[in-house]
Amino acid sequence: MRPFTSTISLEEARHRLTAAINPIARTGRVKLADAAGRVVASGVTSTIDVPPFARSAMDGYAVIANDIIGATRDTPVRLGVVERIYTGQMPRGSISRGRCAEIATGAPIPEGADAVVMVEDTGTPSGGAHGPGDTVEIFTAAVPGQNIGPRGADIAAGALVVDAGDLLTPGRVGSMAAVGCVDVEVYERPRVAILSTGNEVVDPGQALGPGQIFDVNSFTLAAIVAAHGGVPERHKAVEDSLEALTTALDACGHADVIVFSGGSSVGERDLILDVVAARGEMIFHGIAIKPGKPTAFALVNGRPLFGMPGNPTSCLSNAYILLVPFLRATAHLPPFQPRIVRVPLARRINSIARRHQIYTVRLIDGSAHPAFKGSGDITSLSQADGYIEIPEDDSVVEAGTLVDVTIF
Ligand code: AMP
Ligand code: MG
Repeated sequence: MRPFTSTISLEEARHRLTAAINPIARTGRVKLADAAGRVVASGVTSTIDVPPFARSAMDGYAVIANDIIGATRDTPVRLGVVERIYTGQMPRGSISRGRCAEIATGAPIPEGADAVVMVEDTGTPSGGAHGPGDTVEIFTAAVPGQNIGPRGADIAAGALVVDAGDLLTPGRVGSMAAVGCVDVEVYERPRVAILSTGNEVVDPGQALGPGQIFDVNSFTLAAIVAAHGGVPERHKAVEDSLEALTTALDACGHADVIVFSGGSSVGERDLILDVVAARGEMIFHGIAIKPGKPTAFALVNGRPLFGMPGNPTSCLSNAYILLVPFLRATAHLPPFQPRIVRVPLARRINSIARRHQIYTVRLIDGSAHPAFKGSGDITSLSQADGYIEIPEDDSVVEAGTLVDVTIF
């Protein structure tokens, strides 16, 4: 056994992690349909005006505003209808004084017209259907430009549509579609190698032998990595031997981030530290948090390696607070901004940890119910909605205290 000689604060751990972030430089083109959620690597400039032509914003009549000055329901102005303009076709002619064209929303404005009066503000003298050759009564005046979307009003040719570093939201994908983009240059997603360690750990689907448990961590880690912009690569569980761990580590050479779980504490079989010592530089080992104290972070041939605790709740809790910010920055994603709700605590919590505590809670009827069972119990997380943080110096949080719950 090799006891922890010291731990660092959560703040210091975050500080050291931030210093080790190396955002992905590799880029590639993805089809527009696959672009949502990706981060733009090189900005896109429009080559066209959107809309490419002045268009009507209403179903109605394209008119000359000067023709209908003073029009009201009682004193309508009559105009001759010269044509019907549908979407996807150009007007056949232009509009001259005393005339107008029936026009659909999105159809091109004919030459000569400078306003559109919506159909609700018009009528037919006979009360019946009207169209080319008929007359229409206009019940309202219009200002020039009314109900017309000018050419290029949405996006002008030459304008920047999305910039490098932009996260592709649905709206931004839409703006690229509007200018006719087929694909876009984005940053590659970080590849994250995920390895569970421990002689007792087996994959679901295998028979559980004596003393064995099913692997939880590689699944929770893969899920959280995928949710925050990484590409998880689950490796087979590795047995507790220096040789097996070294071989497994060497098989991660292509990964941008390596996450081991288990084997990071001080038990004699906890060999991750020895493996790292032989291959790289330990940045920290041991954080004054609960759960998650036996967490290591190292650089192995310049690659970041997280050594997460084997206990499933410790492992996932640390993934939320340490791996997610690191991964998102590596992926050029903006920091995750979890929802935080302030609610009363339903039951008193005794925290004798003397460590900064991440304490899971469940929200029921507007209050926070303690959900933390133990670091080894995945139900501490699966039956929780979020967590509260209890500073190192607080030993008791009384029922009724307003607490800030960070929602997962
Ligand atoms: P360790 O950090 O290796 O000392 O493991 C601490 C505890 O977590 C032990 O009870 C392990 O059996 C358990 N554990 C380790 N790895 C996993 C895993 N991948 N899935 C579920 N439990 C694990
Ligand atoms: Mg172990």
